[in-house]
Amino acid sequence: MANTITIPQSMLPEDGRFGSGPSKIREAQVRALDEGAHTLLGTSHRQSPVRQVVASIREGLSSFFHLPDGYEIVLGNGGASAFWDMACASLISRRAAFGTYGSFSTKFAKSAASAPFLEEPVIYAGEPGTFRLPEYTEDVDAYCWAHNETSTGVAAPVRRVAGSREQGAVTLVDGTSAAGALPVDVSQTDAYYFSPQKAFGSDGGLWIAVLSPAAIERASEVEHSATLEGARRWVPPFLSLSAAIENSRKDQTLNTPAVATLIMLANQIRWLNDNGGMDWSTARCAKSASVLYDWAARSQYAQPFVADTDARSHSVVTIDLDDAVSAKQVVAALRDNGIVDTSGYRKLGRNQLRIGVFPSVEPADVVALTSCIDYVVERLAE
Ligand SMILES: *Cc1c(COP(=O)(O)O)cnc(C)c1O
Repeated sequence: MANTITIPQSMLPEDGRFGSGPSKIREAQVRALDEGAHTLLGTSHRQSPVRQVVASIREGLSSFFHLPDGYEIVLGNGGASAFWDMACASLISRRAAFGTYGSFSTKFAKSAASAPFLEEPVIYAGEPGTFRLPEYTEDVDAYCWAHNETSTGVAAPVRRVAGSREQGAVTLVDGTSAAGALPVDVSQTDAYYFSPQKAFGSDGGLWIAVLSPAAIERASEVEHSATLEGARRWVPPFLSLSAAIENSRKDQTLNTPAVATLIMLANQIRWLNDNGGMDWSTARCAKSASVLYDWAARSQYAQPFVADTDARSHSVVTIDLDDAVSAKQVVAALRDNGIVDTSGYRKLGRNQLRIGVFPSVEPADVVALTSCIDYVVERLAE
């Protein structure tokens, strides 16, 4: 029976976007594009109007993250994936230790493993659905892991590995699906980096990094020694963190950014700060996430995938379904009704829903979503 399930209009969320990135973009952000239609869009990123937008992003994030002394907000093109390669080129001196526990944390480790000028990384591997932090290791100069593993919905602690500072190592934390949604003390990191299409509800294509003085110094050292030793390491200009730092200090990017992405990002940062900043946004995400985890715990056919309650993400919620209920069918039926991007991470291959509850998502819409899932599952069983 190829019948479509129609969820009653009154049950539907106001907005059906629950993606884990790209994620919901608020209407006010789109209106901001319209407001900048003649003054910003289609104008030079090296002139004051666009540079003011970049300045407001840098200032807004400084206040959002309670920027410690000497830390800087740096940005450039290419997204968090580009930052991994940048970190390999400009931040890791010789050898890094990684915590890997899912697709994203593993990708960075693979980048480092394939860089011919770096030594074999030390990998601390955890099972999907759990996290594993890198442990103190002799002879490493960088510790790397992800605050929120987006492929599994696992949130990991962000605190320096004991002894890492004394050995002169830097701490590089991927905050892509965490920044703006999970509490963080950036003083525990030297680079806390992310892309704007998750909690910051903008479009993709940029990376943003909160950098410590140690990271800034490391980039300069690595790139300087690369120049001196020539053959040892080629730092492509696009992957030069020092070049990105220099440009960011002037409220610019090395090469041309998507101005629309900057406008929507600036609007979102202002919205978060105006509402109460990190405390407000993280509480809002925690509330939305708990709606889902509590519903799953009560449900006859669903349960949270992540067993450790402290490791359950407040931004990307993963819910396993019983074998009798096909997640694929549930996701398709939801999509037929305008509720989109609720499927599990493809490569994880579980019978699972994965729901992005970033700050832009209304907690009331998350409540509505749980009713819609129940409605669909009941009809699928008929
Ligand atoms: C989405 C994501 C990335 C990749 O971001 P891009 O902007 O696509 O490069 C990296 N790390 C994590 C944790 C992510 O969620």
